[in-house]
Amino acid sequence: MTTHDVIIIGASLAGSACARELERSGIDAVAFERDRFPRAKVCGGFLSPGGVECLARLGVLGDVRAAGAVEVASARVRMDSLEVQIPFERVGLGISRRCLDEIVASGIHISQQCAVTQVDRTDNGFRVKGPGFEATCSVLVDAAGKLGRFTRRKPAHEFGIQYTEAGTRGSVLDFWFFEDGYGGAVSVEGGRSNHCFLINKDKLPKYLNRPECLVTGPLAYDPLPGDYIAVGDAAGMLDPFCGEGMRHALDTGMLAAKIVAKGIRAGTAYEEIRREYEWEHNRRWSRKRAIGAGMREALRHRRLFRTGLRLAPVRWLNRIWD
Ligand SMILES: Cc1cc2nc3c(=O)[nH]c(=O)nc-3n(C[C@H](O)[C@H](O)[C@H](O)COP(=O)(O)OP(=O)(O)OC[C@H]3O[C@@H](n4cnc5c(N)ncnc54)[C@H](O)[C@@H]3O)c2cc1C
Repeated sequence: MTTHDVIIIGASLAGSACARELERSGIDAVAFERDRFPRAKVCGGFLSPGGVECLARLGVLGDVRAAGAVEVASARVRMDSLEVQIPFERVGLGISRRCLDEIVASGIHISQQCAVTQVDRTDNGFRVKGPGFEATCSVLVDAAGKLGRFTRRKPAHEFGIQYTEAGTRGSVLDFWFFEDGYGGAVSVEGGRSNHCFLINKDKLPKYLNRPECLVTGPLAYDPLPGDYIAVGDAAGMLDPFCGEGMRHALDTGMLAAKIVAKGIRAGTAYEEIRREYEWEHNRRWSRKRAIGAGMREALRHRRLFRTGLRLAPVRWLNRIWD
């Protein structure tokens, strides 16, 4: 059995960002990750400008660019017969999760292929167990994503699918709204493009015949009250339409690390650290959550949505990405 100040469950973007920042603060942290990197993951592969800034804050932006991330400078959005071009004020990046997650997770204390199956409270904190390992800590962070078992979220009726194709799409993010869902394609490293769609559950079977198509779901936007500090999707997904899920994961991972490090140094109780983190998380992200939820609702009224898209696409995007 090992003992640490902090244990993080999951070492994808949120978990690794948290572990990286804790390590920088001199806190003894370990992340247990079920998978082994590099591995593919269902994602649109588009990092918003704010996500790019998070990578810079983490000190890994140079590595991500060197790995072949592609600058994305505009979007081409289509809905029925409408097509709008949206130039970005700041560039985003196209990169696969196979590549990005491995970079963010490199050089920090991560135990890979260690799925956490049980968490118990102890007098001084938590005991975490999985097949062949056991560890204790004073602070636990849940970064296990939208399907993680330790923090609950309300499941939605949507699934995500993804595949890659040879050939690039230049610096344009292509985005389509269609009857069964929405999604897009973006250039990623290696001269390929990443295609990813969000599909209503009932219509999913008709999209699964493509070879090497990955599927994830159900998606889960709304968090339910939980017991642990939850970062990234574990705290509830942002609507993928916003293109801010990765930024949310990186930002909340770093935010939790900062508050946890301060709390550990001051000897603050876990519940108090968690309350401070949740307050700050809501302050930063509740408006974006509300915009995402509003857009999901607006999508049910296609004509209204189309009119908004036609009249003020740049304003929309800037409201989401500021
Ligand atoms: C269809 C779709 C398209 C998207 N497109 C975009 C996009 O273009 N741009 C964008 O910014 N965002 C996008 N997102 C959102 C983005 O993918 C997520 O917000 C982001 O992956 C969240 O990162 P995370 O680290 O919180 O969780 P995850 O990436 O889900 O990582 C969770 C990690 O925890 C591990 N884990 C789970 N359970 C355990 C356990 N018990 N023990 C140990 N480890 C465990 C998993 O193996 C995984 O590595 C999209 C999402 C979907 C579904």
